[in-house]
Amino acid sequence: MEIKKILVLGAGTMGNGIAQVCASIGYEVVLCDLNDDALSRGLATISKSLDRLIKKEKITDSGKETILTRITGTTNLEDGEDVCLVIEAVTENKDLKFKIFKNLDKVINSDAILATNTSTISITEIAAATTRPDKVIGMHFMNPVPVMKLVELIRGLGTSDEVYNTINSMVLKLKKTPVLANDFPGFIANRILLPYINEAVYTLMENIGTVDGIDTVARLGFAHPMGPLAIGDLIGLDTCLAIMEVLHADLGDSK
Ligand code: NAD
Repeated sequence: MEIKKILVLGAGTMGNGIAQVCASIGYEVVLCDLNDDALSRGLATISKSLDRLIKKEKITDSGKETILTRITGTTNLEDGEDVCLVIEAVTENKDLKFKIFKNLDKVINSDAILATNTSTISITEIAAATTRPDKVIGMHFMNPVPVMKLVELIRGLGTSDEVYNTINSMVLKLKKTPVLANDFPGFIANRILLPYINEAVYTLMENIGTVDGIDTVARLGFAHPMGPLAIGDLIGLDTCLAIMEVLHADLGDSK
């Protein structure tokens, strides 16, 4: 299955990064969000991110223009009905994602793959909102998308081999490394990362160290590039809380 045109749903932190990396290697991208403000913010972030690449001499001015011409912004989902792949990157909320996948299934042509960038919600459950569970897959990019090399791939119960192989090849084309994770709360990355961030919040709350002290321990003591509290801010505390709530509900661990 050859992918040419992609709909990225959600132009926030993750969606605009995903749109940028896809357009950078030649895919035609439709970037869709709820309103013009959210869309303009997303497109402005892409433009600034490409400016940083020009400064580092990784792309030229005309390279930036070419990449931007491959991205069309819209608030109308129907503008993406003829795509080969949807990558959903809207707010982390189970009911919202179920509703969106039900709608995508109606609006987007029936051959298209529907991928989700969810941090922790079950791919099998999301797929069950559609009539094409064989074409639904988890494609979990890391933040910031243009920088981070990992994409976790999560197969739902019904994800077909063809869909998995197509998305695996696409991730390699994006010059990123795919890692297969089972469909379990938090997959691999957030099963490890979020309890770590949460414990850092407890460490602060119980006054064991300052914000700077906690992050410095991780940077200098564990050789992590960023401390856990800084990572929590980068992800967004709303998203962190949403992920912890799913881990709590689905794993039954009160911690
Ligand atoms: P965000 O809040 O920055 O962006 C979400 C965007 O979705 C917003 O622009 C919002 O307007 C838009 N949106 C909401 N409902 C919509 C709808 N019905 N149609 C179109 N657009 C809609 O969130 P984010 O941090 O980019 O997270 C998006 C997804 O990526 C979540 O599932 C999150 O768990 C996942 N994720 C986040 C990170 C991270 O570090 N932030 C990392 C990996 C995965």
